[in-house]
Formats: sequence, structure tokens, C-alpha cells
Amino acid sequence: MNSSFRQQDEIKNRVRESTDIVRLIGENIELKKVGANYVGLCPFHAEKTPSFSVNPGRQFFHCFGCGESGDVFTFMMKYHRLGFPEALKELAGRAGIDLPERALSPAEQQQLRRRDRLYAVNEAAAALYQQNLRQLPAAADARSYLADRGIPDEFTTRYRLGYAPGPDHGGWNFITGLLQKNGHAVVDIERAGLAVQKEQGGYYDRFRDRVLFPIYDMSGRVVAFGGRILGEGGPKYMNSPESSIFDKGRLLFGLYQHRDTIRRQRRALVVEGNFDLLSLAVHGVENVVAPLGTSLTRPHVRSLRGYCDQVVLLFDGDAAGFKAAMRSVPFFLSERVEARVALLPDGQDPDSMVREQGVDAVRALVDQADPLPEFVFEALVRRHGLTLDGKNRIVAELQPLLAAGDGDQRALMIAHFSEKFGVSPERMSRSEVSVRPPVSPEPAAGEWAAFAMLPRRYRQVVDFLLLYPEFFDDLLAEGLESVVKEPVLVDFIKFLKEIRPEGNCTPERIFSSLPEGEARRYAAKIFMEAGNGATGDETGSRDMCNELKSWLREEQRVLEEANLLQQIRVAQEAGDREKVMELLRRKQECGRKRTGFCDNLLKNE
Ligand SMILES: [Zn+2]
Repeated sequence: MNSSFRQQDEIKNRVRESTDIVRLIGENIELKKVGANYVGLCPFHAEKTPSFSVNPGRQFFHCFGCGESGDVFTFMMKYHRLGFPEALKELAGRAGIDLPERALSPAEQQQLRRRDRLYAVNEAAAALYQQNLRQLPAAADARSYLADRGIPDEFTTRYRLGYAPGPDHGGWNFITGLLQKNGHAVVDIERAGLAVQKEQGGYYDRFRDRVLFPIYDMSGRVVAFGGRILGEGGPKYMNSPESSIFDKGRLLFGLYQHRDTIRRQRRALVVEGNFDLLSLAVHGVENVVAPLGTSLTRPHVRSLRGYCDQVVLLFDGDAAGFKAAMRSVPFFLSERVEARVALLPDGQDPDSMVREQGVDAVRALVDQADPLPEFVFEALVRRHGLTLDGKNRIVAELQPLLAAGDGDQRALMIAHFSEKFGVSPERMSRSEVSVRPPVSPEPAAGEWAAFAMLPRRYRQVVDFLLLYPEFFDDLLAEGLESVVKEPVLVDFIKFLKEIRPEGNCTPERIFSSLPEGEARRYAAKIFMEAGNGATGDETGSRDMCNELKSWLREEQRVLEEANLLQQIRVAQEAGDREKVMELLRRKQECGRKRTGFCDNLLKNE
């Protein structure tokens, strides 16, 4: 362990110790005290009965439903989608701990500073755009456009809508120039996607003559903009390009603003456009999100899963809408989020529908939404027909969908579709083997996955060392390494040796150093079952240690005997009588050691 790593480790521990995990998680999730732990509904998977547990003694959380677990840093990173440096900075800030520069590696420091500058540029731009919309004479068209669409000022303010003027107003680099004047480096303005470099040098504004929506990450920082053009020219809708702080495959427009409503209603609506979202919000439908110019991705579905049980896709009935729905089926199935589809009447979008037919019409449409797999199936039948050829095509098109479900879901879907459709289940699943298997939610971390599969005694060793690492040396001295041959356990011993910094190894430290995935989940389960730990039962742990030590001694004897037997065989084959006699004597001695009873007999001889 080099010194900068140790320093980072120290600061990390200080921040962890100064953070109240129950309070931190309680800011986002309602927690109830049950025994020594706190429980609530898991933010990482959909559930109706709480299986998400927070252990204040050991400062970590674990979900018995989906297996997510971790400490305060993991929670910040997973729940708020932060990188480690940001999570550390945020928690250090809350705890009032000065984060010394050296707590981060130079690369992390640089990354953090660069991202901070991008957040700052975006925030400054949002304020400028907002001010433009309110004050610029050139924004008169934008203001009347919003008025025509029925967006009251109150909503313009709440969503911080803004306006980027066209070149007629302030030239081609109006915003870029203002941002530079306010002290932002042009390279950061470009990296944030607000300025575009000209081939012949210089920069021009990316957004011109557009109404702009700031896009927030889940910590409420502006990371990008979406804009609708006002005058001629295209494209009609445009988003900021991706940057180190904006990943459109992960973020959903509106999720930050609407997350509480979505959590309360346990249902999210997905619409295609920013104005659809805004219009619905104006009419009191606030559990809406919109992807940013992409179709729904698996990370999108996963982030929704933290807030709701059901997602309703509100799509146009056109081919693009269908394709988007079809593409998202595997994500919903593998993330176990119920999805439904509500098709809009021809020529309507949610914005026009809510304005022309009222909010009740939209609500009725949503309430009658079809389950996504059904919807896809019906649409395929409409498209291909039920001729033999049509059925073949449908079976082929359904394969990726079937492959995405896990065992039970797949079996259910196959049974459901084959009956509906008059095709044998075998034929329905015919290309099952050739189809790519579904991606598991978290890739198992190789050997670590096997803790739970270990033989009983070996598992006892793992459990014991997780809870009482202070006895690690005792077990090592008793020959732990010579007895243990299972690769998983060998790795675990190696791991304990590596993380043990000058003899101070606590369960908390082990937990936070374990690689994410199966190993951590296993440890979390053990910690939870052991209750609020705080090493209360000293006699119990000492007894357990003694039990394991005598087991180790016994195992070594067994190993030694087996080894002697092998040597005896070799000596017999070689005809070395003397050696055989010597080995037999040793084996006998070894056998005597087995029980105290034998020891006593020997003494009486
Ligand atoms: Zn969970």
C-alpha cells in the first residue's frame, strides 16, 4: 500500500465514520426502525414490502430483495449516480471535513476540477438563457410561443426555461462571449457543448434561436440543454452533445423534478418530447419523464426502477413508436419492471391530446394501457398475419424478447404466447440456445460468487473472519493456509492479508474493500444476520475461534496421515522395509494425537 493510497483510505474512513448512514439514506427513503436496523422500500428494485435494510452499527445498507449493498459512498454513487471523487467530496462537505487535495489521486483531482468547471459553465448558461427569455426584446417570439402552447410563467420559472437568441440579435457567439466575459474558459464552454469551434478558428453558439430546457442530473445540477427551434431551419429538437457530465443513455429529462411524484404514485409515464412532458405537467400530470433523443436504454429502466413499479410508455401509433417499444421490452423484463404501452390516437402527441381533449382523456388512456409483451405480440400479429409464414416471422421476431427474461419469465412468456398462437412451446423457444443469454444485472465477480457454495466448515471460516477479523492471525498460526485449498478461500485469505493495515482490520473495512458484487452481497448478508455487531459477544467469538482451531488441527492431521499413507505405499513398492517401519510408526503417532483419549492411553503404557 503506497502512502497516497493510505492517505485516501484514511480520509475515506474519517468521512465514513462522520456520516450517519441512516440520516443520509433517510433523506431519500422512508426508513423504519426494526430491531437494531432500519428498513424501507428498496430504491434499487421495485417492491411492495420492504427488504432494504440499513445497519447503523456497521454503517452499511443491504437489500435482501435485489442484493444491492454498500456503504455511504456506494449509496451516493448508486443512488445519485456520482463518481467516487464526487461522492467523497459531497460527503466530506456535509461532514465538514476538509478534503485535502492529496486524498484524491492526481488524475481524480484533475477529473473533479474539470467536471466542476463544466457544471459551473452549464449553470451560468442556464441563468443567462433564463434571463434572456424574460428580458430580451428578441425573445418576444419565444414568449408568445410558450404562451400559445399554454405554458404559464409559473412553469417557465419552475423548469427554468430559457432562450438562446439567433445571430440577428447578438451575433454568432452571443452566449459564448458572455460566458467568457464572466470568466469561463472557452475550452470549457466547448466541452460543455455550448460552443462549437469553427474550422477557421473562433467559436459560435451551438444553440441559436431556440427555447431551451436545462437538463438536470439526479443531484440537481444542470448538465445539458434541450432546445426547440423557433424559426426556420433544423433540426426541430436538439440536445447538448454528450460530455463527461452528460450521458444521454442514462439520464431522463424530468426525473430529477418529478422523482418524488413518481415515487409516491409508483408509476412513471414515458413520453417522447420535452414539450409533451411540460404540457402534461401543466395539466397536473407530474409523474412524467422523457428520454433525450434516444430510445429507452437499460440504464434508463434501471434508474426508473428505483422510483416505481410500473412504467407506461405513451407512444405515437406510428412505426417508430412501435420499434421503440419493442426495443425496450428486454430491458423491462430483465430489470423486472412492469411496463405497459398506451398508444396515442392517430396524429396526436401527449401535448396536443391533453390540450384538445383534456387531462382525463390522457389519464383514461394510461389506465387502459396494455402490458408491453401483449402489445408487442398483437402488433406482430397485425403485421405478419397468422399464416404459416407469418407465424415463422413472429417467432423469429419474438426471440430477443424471450431471451431477455430469466428462467421463470421466459417459461411464462413461452407458455403464454404458444397457447395464444397455436405453436408448440418447443417451437416457440426453438432458437433459445443460439440467442445471446440475458445479461445478469450485476456481473458475478468470478471466484467470489462461490462463497455460498463452500462446504460448511469453510463457510464458517469465511463468516467468522468477516465478523471477527481480529482472530485472523490466530487461525493463520494454526495452519489455515495449509488446510485451505479451495480457490475462493485462498483468494479471501490473500485479500485479508492485503487490506490488513498494521493489524487494524475491522468488519467495516473489510466490507468497503470487498469488490462489488457477490462477495459484498455475501458479506452484507452475514453482517445483517449477525445483527448490530459492535463485537458484543466476546466469549462467543473466542469459543468459535477455538472450535475452528481444533478443526484446523484435525484437518492437518488428516492431511498428514494421508500424506504418510502415500509415502508408505511408495516405500513398500521400493521394498524399503526400514523406511516402511519408520513411516508406520509416524502414522501411528499421528493417529494417537487424534484424540485426548488416545493420549491418555499412551501415558499409561
Ligand atoms: Zn433491492
